[in-house]
Amino acid sequence: MCGIVGYTGPKQAYPIILKGLKRLEYRGYDSSGVALLHNGKLDVYKKKGKVAQLEESLVGVNVHAHIGIGHTRWATHGEPSDRNSHPHTSSSGRLSMIHNGIIENYAQLKKELLSKNYTFTSDTDTEVLLNFIEDILLNNNCTLEEAVRIALKRITGAYCILLLDEQDPETIIAARKGSPLVIGIGKGEHFLASDASPIIEYTKEVVYVNDYELAIVRPNELILKNIGNEKITPFITKLDMELAAIEKGGYDHFMLKEIYEQPSTIQDCLRGRLHAEDGTITMAGIDDNIEQIKNAERIMIVACGTSWHAGLVAEYIIEELCRIPVEVEYASEFRYRNPIVNKGDVIIAISQSGETADTLVALEKAKENGAFIFGVVNAVGSSIARISHAGAYTHAGHEIGVASTKAFTGQLVVLTMMALRIAIQKETITQERYLHLLTELADVPEKVDAILKNAEHIKTIALKYKDAHDFLFLGRGYNFPIALEGALKLKEISYIHAEGYPAAEMKHGPIALVDENLPVVFIATKDSYHEKIVSNMQEIKARKGKIISIITEGDDISPTLSNDCIFIPPADELIAPIISVIPLQLLSYFTGIAKGIDVDKPRNLAKSVTVE
Ligand code: GLU
Repeated sequence: MCGIVGYTGPKQAYPIILKGLKRLEYRGYDSSGVALLHNGKLDVYKKKGKVAQLEESLVGVNVHAHIGIGHTRWATHGEPSDRNSHPHTSSSGRLSMIHNGIIENYAQLKKELLSKNYTFTSDTDTEVLLNFIEDILLNNNCTLEEAVRIALKRITGAYCILLLDEQDPETIIAARKGSPLVIGIGKGEHFLASDASPIIEYTKEVVYVNDYELAIVRPNELILKNIGNEKITPFITKLDMELAAIEKGGYDHFMLKEIYEQPSTIQDCLRGRLHAEDGTITMAGIDDNIEQIKNAERIMIVACGTSWHAGLVAEYIIEELCRIPVEVEYASEFRYRNPIVNKGDVIIAISQSGETADTLVALEKAKENGAFIFGVVNAVGSSIARISHAGAYTHAGHEIGVASTKAFTGQLVVLTMMALRIAIQKETITQERYLHLLTELADVPEKVDAILKNAEHIKTIALKYKDAHDFLFLGRGYNFPIALEGALKLKEISYIHAEGYPAAEMKHGPIALVDENLPVVFIATKDSYHEKIVSNMQEIKARKGKIISIITEGDDISPTLSNDCIFIPPADELIAPIISVIPLQLLSYFTGIAKGIDVDKPRNLAKSVTVE
């Protein structure tokens, strides 16, 4: 996954790179490092651990340079350690490189290089690629740019690489396939990064580099070429993002800030699309392709992690409202299992970052088979947004906390609006129900706000159960995927083992785990399943499990069965998931904090999963 930053221009490179790496730490924090080029000499500094540790180790060191590259790592090949940290230095010491991705055929290349007496100082695939490039450079008497091009034609896998050459004091060579790269255009300077956050405070003009493109970047020059050495005119985009959006704004953690932003991010997602008063939904991506979408024989939803849970909710809603069969697939399974994708199938890809490697490849495959790709992504201009035929942004703003919160509710809102828009066109919903659901959607921000005001109560519950070893989350119907999401969130940021289950299915296994030490969270809002889930609560209570229930205000049965209750405002069952997930986000957050965990950077995780 990893974050990469580069700078070439008149300013001091190190502070820009360091600040950028801190902004990109959500992408990985196993180790970090910088390479600075000054007076024809490369200085490389790297350290296991977070960027702050690198910074500390460089206090008092002369880091003067006007060109440099930096990396924050999410280890794939080789343990997190100083020696496996990037930047890597080539055998001769002439080149320095950082890399985001995986070189799949690195073992074969390494063998070749070993036979030529190359030695390696790390276990990474990156160092292999670097020496492979150097080998081509030295043996072909060519330029570095040519050597990179030749090397990239031979490798399989994913990469975004930045290279420095001791013999070229102003140039960074960059290339990408499968891992993101943005180049910021300043006045007599250029910035390179995995996303726009390290660039935003210096310039709003950026170029998103595409797969199989190579960039030669100098202070006053940006040359973009394809892998066939043809020049490409850089397409300059204006960033629509403010610096404040990527800072904590008074909150202790990004995760908490993002949880609290939800009333306004949901509002942003609805704005200009949902017109409850005149009973319409406008979504350009759907409106422009309505015939194709409404006549689809089936819809396949492809996603990973939290986005996959949003996909499950969408499955229930689309089938209910639009009467189109929906299948929800893990992107990583879909891409390898030779799925049947027919011309005319609609594939909805859901991804916060829009860079999820498995989802991207799955889409490319489906696209080749003639499917219509609809992207539901948060990051504007991201790879998935660009390869989709149409799409809808979630407008949740930059999400930095590794555990997704506001992007998830944004996905649910977009998917619900899509279902409603298709259903009304397809006439599979009554006008009355349609109008009712529109009003319900419009009321969501206010209801979310009401739950956030109850955070202290949720904190008390978190403190009470923080030492549990396991948790069970149960829900039915539209709230079943929310049980999965609640369990995932808790696992991610509190390291407590948790499982989500359909409440009734619990009898087919997990009930064996229930005793007086097991907290069981029921998402049991008032809906058509309510009586059934109350019976499931009885079953848990009979076995002395500790029941924490998320229930609708006014419910007077569930409290008699629960050890602790969290009341939430009433909502239509189709809309309930957007609201019922909020207390679960807070429960996980407070549990993680109570256990002393860095909730914004939980161990082993990274936000944007750009490797398989
Ligand atoms: N495969 C490289 C490594 O393990 C890069 C991983 C990354 O993208 O952070 O070092």
